[in-house]
Amino acid sequence: MGPPGAGKGTQAQELKKRLGIAHVASGDLFRQAMEEGTELGLVARSYIERGELVPDEVTIAMILKRLDELDCREGVILDGFPRTIEQAKALEEALAERGEAIATVLYIRVSDEVIVGRLSGRRICRNCQANYHVIFNPPKRPGVCDLCGGELYQREDDRPETVRKRLEVYLAQTAPLIEYYRKAGLLTEIDGEQDIEGLTADLMAAIRRSGFTG
Ligand code: AMP
Repeated sequence: MGPPGAGKGTQAQELKKRLGIAHVASGDLFRQAMEEGTELGLVARSYIERGELVPDEVTIAMILKRLDELDCREGVILDGFPRTIEQAKALEEALAERGEAIATVLYIRVSDEVIVGRLSGRRICRNCQANYHVIFNPPKRPGVCDLCGGELYQREDDRPETVRKRLEVYLAQTAPLIEYYRKAGLLTEIDGEQDIEGLTADLMAAIRRSGFTG
């Protein structure tokens, strides 16, 4: 968990490599659906472009379907989900039905000033959704993905007007989840203002402490 621009996507991709488990990002799934022009994509676009959350019902159904896929069997890194208390409760129920549970909730903490700078320089691969930053995490060749050679683009919702709205939505709807998971004894807070490698090391240490074995 963490505000937009905290580094969730970048870190989740690294953790996926190290842990060998699936990375499930609700935002990536919505963007893929938008690129493919599916019905889900059409519904999601209207909310995403305004910086608002896609309704819980739609989001929960999409994620639970994804969690049923084979690559999620050994565990999963959830990125950008849950974002509301209702989503968190739906996730808990679905996991309980499967005899599974959340191992740990990693909260990447960063200040508002840092967020705006990070989002304005962010670039995403159109093909594999890898995350870059023009200054902090540049690709080897400008505009080209290191991993798959895909074209990099700037997300429409990383424009300043939409970023402000997304931060408001985060504070109103997602920040309360931090307390929810703290009370449940699942939360580990990590300093998100350090460099990318330091942050990965802290996340890996927290995962090891949680006892997650995959
Ligand atoms: P992200 O890539 O995580 O920043 O997500 C981009 C946008 O997708 C968000 O601003 C929301 O509009 C939508 N979205 C992603 N995850 C969720 C979620 N769990 N619940 C509702 N909307 C979401």
